[in-house]
Amino acid sequence: MVTVQSVDRRGMHARHEFFYRPTGVKKVFGNRNVITTDMGLVSEPDEQGHVATSVSVLEALAHCAQDPEHRAVLIQGPILPDAYVVPKEEWEKPSEPLRRYLKYAPDVYLRAPRSLHEAVSQHTSPLKLRRERFVTLDPAETYGALTWRGIRTRTKRRMHLTDVLEGTKLFVFSELASPDSHHHIKVDPCIDVKAAARQGGIYVVEVPSRSRPLAYPFRLESVPLANAGDQRYAIWTDLREEKHDCEENRYNFGYRYTAGEVVFCAHSVAAYLAVAKLERSRGFISTPVPLVSRFFVENIYNLLRSRTLVEEETTVDGKTRKIKRPLNKGEMELLLWKAVSFYGHDKTCYARPQQDGKIQDYTWQLR
Ligand SMILES: [Zn+2]
Ligand SMILES: [Zn+2]
Repeated sequence: MVTVQSVDRRGMHARHEFFYRPTGVKKVFGNRNVITTDMGLVSEPDEQGHVATSVSVLEALAHCAQDPEHRAVLIQGPILPDAYVVPKEEWEKPSEPLRRYLKYAPDVYLRAPRSLHEAVSQHTSPLKLRRERFVTLDPAETYGALTWRGIRTRTKRRMHLTDVLEGTKLFVFSELASPDSHHHIKVDPCIDVKAAARQGGIYVVEVPSRSRPLAYPFRLESVPLANAGDQRYAIWTDLREEKHDCEENRYNFGYRYTAGEVVFCAHSVAAYLAVAKLERSRGFISTPVPLVSRFFVENIYNLLRSRTLVEEETTVDGKTRKIKRPLNKGEMELLLWKAVSFYGHDKTCYARPQQDGKIQDYTWQLR
């Protein structure tokens, strides 16, 4: 871990501003009209008579999105299914309940190719596999991660949508900073051209922390590059981060995940996007990190993050009380997948520059 020596006050202020999240009832609700909803399912036939199953939360968000300055959402909890709720006395850390969901909720498994031959003959790009898989998602199911297995290493890769969104936001923050600023992600290609054609590119990156004046140095490996030809349809499956030590990762490896499982945190998502930008001119293939749409960010993610509270019962000193609090990571993950299941892959996980503009130009902050 590298401590950034010279943190200018303005720079620190910019970081706090950018990642600020309102959490209290006063800040989230203010004088806004609060739309109360719950996790119930809504089935309504459209004009053609097709029955679409939605979650009432999604309807409330759609309503809120029309006017986020004057509307907010209150979800009557619980959001997580009972099976993932950990009794308070069993918590090892306050983050316990969301961890259990993130680890054990059904994952959205991509049928990545099992051999180089299969990859090359079927042109298994991550985009193609995601599209095929996402049309089969069940809006009534609760999902916790996108996963696939590497061809060479066979270890499972796990990526949470919350980290995809947080990581994309971190990348945007880096893009908005001046290139010589410590807020800018640094990318150092260590490409051995011959090896890269078979094993993908290797990059040493340095990604700023969102909450502290730190930068995390680590390596991204098995990055599929254009010069790999058809091998790139296999290389992406083994994408991994090496020597990355952040709090999230320490916790993942120490407690939650089976040894060897690769879990992409927000830092590795941000680093991947920075590498993708650097290599774009050389022709980059579709990325294992979904490129989020403007709709997904502005109409779903921002609202869940800054305009939504959950109300739940809690016992304090033997008395049952209702409290309102912001969504935790597990709840956020569940609801992001609900949106993806309902709206589909292309509306959420596929950015179209002509329609969406640059991701730097999305609205990333709601005060
Ligand atoms: Zn700073
Ligand atoms: Zn990290």
